[in-house]
Amino acid sequence: MGDLGIAFVASELAPYAKVGGLGDVASSLPAFLHRKGHDVRVFVPLYSRIYDHANDFYPVDFAQGTTVRLAGEDISFDLYTRPAGEGEPALYFVHCPRFFQRDGIYTGDPDEHLRFAFLSLAVLASCQRMGWGPQIVHCNDWQTGLLPLYLKTLFSWDSLFQRTKTVYTIHNIGYQGVVGSDAVEGLQLGQYRHLLHQGDLGEGRVNFMKTAILYADVLTTVSPTYAREIQDHQGMGLQDLLRSRSQSVVGILNGVDYEEWSPEKDPHIPHPYSRDDLEGKFENREVLLEKLGLQPAEDAPVVGIVSRLASQKGFELLFEAMPWFLTNHDMRLAVLGSGEPRLEGFFQSLQGRYPGKACYFRGYNEDLAHLIEAGSDIFLMPSKYEPCGLNQMYSLRYGTVPVVRNTGGLADTVQQYNPETRLGTGFLFDHYTSEGVGWALGFAMRVFVRRAEWRDLMRNGMSQDFSWERQGNKYIELYRRLCA
Ligand code: ADP
Repeated sequence: MGDLGIAFVASELAPYAKVGGLGDVASSLPAFLHRKGHDVRVFVPLYSRIYDHANDFYPVDFAQGTTVRLAGEDISFDLYTRPAGEGEPALYFVHCPRFFQRDGIYTGDPDEHLRFAFLSLAVLASCQRMGWGPQIVHCNDWQTGLLPLYLKTLFSWDSLFQRTKTVYTIHNIGYQGVVGSDAVEGLQLGQYRHLLHQGDLGEGRVNFMKTAILYADVLTTVSPTYAREIQDHQGMGLQDLLRSRSQSVVGILNGVDYEEWSPEKDPHIPHPYSRDDLEGKFENREVLLEKLGLQPAEDAPVVGIVSRLASQKGFELLFEAMPWFLTNHDMRLAVLGSGEPRLEGFFQSLQGRYPGKACYFRGYNEDLAHLIEAGSDIFLMPSKYEPCGLNQMYSLRYGTVPVVRNTGGLADTVQQYNPETRLGTGFLFDHYTSEGVGWALGFAMRVFVRRAEWRDLMRNGMSQDFSWERQGNKYIELYRRLCA
């Protein structure tokens, strides 16, 4: 039975407020820990988008009007919760309209750093109100980067936290939370300047993620390969610091919530199917094509993409490769995502140039994300870097063969298919070039026409198990080691 008290702090939480994989993990990892009997309490901001649908939320009566000091002011917040559903951990929402009643989860507003520094302070203040000294505070990404330092400074007087250790998970090193050093006073760190990274301060900056790397008790990231890469060529300036703490850097692959992502019971798709009965997959394929206005395609592969459209995701490699494939191959392309205008423009232009063959749906759409997973034959993720990636793991379960770059979590979850042995689950390419992605996509398409072989390949992927039941115990072992 579990005995650990764990405060899990994140800026996203599926299904309430999700931008990418962090939202999924913030919901599924705590759920796993809760199933194992631990006292997990998840803390997220009460964003407008949550507040507007928060029908069954109620205020935690002993945590109303709590104030924390930030930006030289006493700022008040109320803590909300909701009745925990079956198998759900306790969820706590920090209600502070000044910071969180805005459009969107992330904003480009000048006080973005204060919004999330506030979250860190509010979580610690909430623990005090609860009289709860968790053994572990598990922080995630830059938004929670100051929490370990706040615990060691502003909150060090409180014996409640005497035994509390911090775990800091890097979900994406590409977003570090860097602000000018004139923010130090406002972040309530004026008297602790000497504890901030002196090189950065000298150059007029404060880096939230770097601060966490300095002060968290353990650093984790979301796949073993990414743990190596961020101490090397993917460190984005943090590699030396991470290497200096290499004994404390651990890579633990994210798990998949198969309650949410299984073709047998997915409420978002019209035709359930399984490894032993693939018929529904082909029906979903027809539904997908019709829904997106694509021509029926008995023999042509359907290539799916669901993604944030950020440079990290490698879609610039398709600028040359994809028009070539659409011109020279009978194929369909279904793309869902939004982000950088140049990438949106590219997919939009493909749709214009190849009507009936390519469709781009701009935006965020949970139903369509599931339908693309279920209705596509190939799932494309040519990422420049990929800390873990969840979509390729979903694809494997949905029999949608991943074509991915050999990096980060993609390298840890997709095994190169070998036609001779018929082993492997997908197609990986090494070189970050259009030739690289073209080679892997071409390889996949050549195997696709050998239908019996392709079905075996689909089944290879569908048999993989990336559940939290398999990976989650590594977090529990880590917490225990820390507390020992
Ligand atoms: P990242 O966290 O870098 O965005 P991941 O592959 O780890 O990438 O996770 C992405 C998650 O976000 C998946 O659950 C994916 O289905 C979802 N997602 C991304 N873009 C969209 C979108 N436009 N509509 C619906 N879901 C999306």
